[in-house]
Amino acid sequence: MPPLYDAHNHAHDDWLAPHRERLDADLRAAGLRRAVVNGTCEADWPAVAELAARFPWVYPSYGLHPWDAGNRAEGWFDRLKERLAAAPHAAVGEIGLDRWILDRARPDDPRLAGLRRAPLEEQGEVFIKQLSLAAAENRPATVHCLQAFGALEGLLRHVNTPARGFLLHAYGGPLELLGKFADYGAYFSFNGAFLEPRHAAKREVFKRVPADRLLVETDAPAMPLPADRAAFTLPPAPDGSPVNHPANLAAAYAALAELRGVPLATLAAQVEENFLRLFGP
Ligand SMILES: [Zn+2]
Repeated sequence: MPPLYDAHNHAHDDWLAPHRERLDADLRAAGLRRAVVNGTCEADWPAVAELAARFPWVYPSYGLHPWDAGNRAEGWFDRLKERLAAAPHAAVGEIGLDRWILDRARPDDPRLAGLRRAPLEEQGEVFIKQLSLAAAENRPATVHCLQAFGALEGLLRHVNTPARGFLLHAYGGPLELLGKFADYGAYFSFNGAFLEPRHAAKREVFKRVPADRLLVETDAPAMPLPADRAAFTLPPAPDGSPVNHPANLAAAYAALAELRGVPLATLAAQVEENFLRLFGP
């Protein structure tokens, strides 16, 4: 296997904890070099730091996700700054905007239990604060955007973004905004879950992402691949949710190479160059 880079996951997640040693072995065998491991709320930042201290492939990233924006505690931003100051090479993320959680999420979705869902405007304030911090320190930032691409474009037009660029993870926005986001400095990561038949439009977009802005990700333990494409499986989470094994990254690389009609080695070399340009060595 060529060297692989996972631009976005949550390897510190509790769902993966029982499988830690096996995951590390599987990832090394699959050729993983680096994975950006994203904290999403204050409570999980220590687990990201712990994982980074334990496994050399972990690239830590700290942020407040839009799902958690409504539950932020007084002083959260100062504590984020402190955490970043202690980790000079860490990234900012996962941050962003999410209209799905406001408009389309089912009220009984177990992932949303106990969450206060911040309205879009409030999510925007929390997002801009963190993106501006990343820009000021020129750290890479990872952006989550669900069903709010127009709003995201509107915000990016007026704020500084990190000079080195930022990641729009699992990009599911329209083809028409691809060029605009690229002009603002965006990279776009392809997720193996896009191999589901219903994601045909997203696959079309990824045929057209400029080669020098292309990355690959798993979002593990979230976003499982279709069962026939997942080479690695894990038992379901305690609540019955499927758990994506991060070594399925290899399958996402292979699928993206096929989609773009390039040899796997060519794609892997391009993604390596892009990852190192955005996130650094
Ligand atoms: Zn994520």
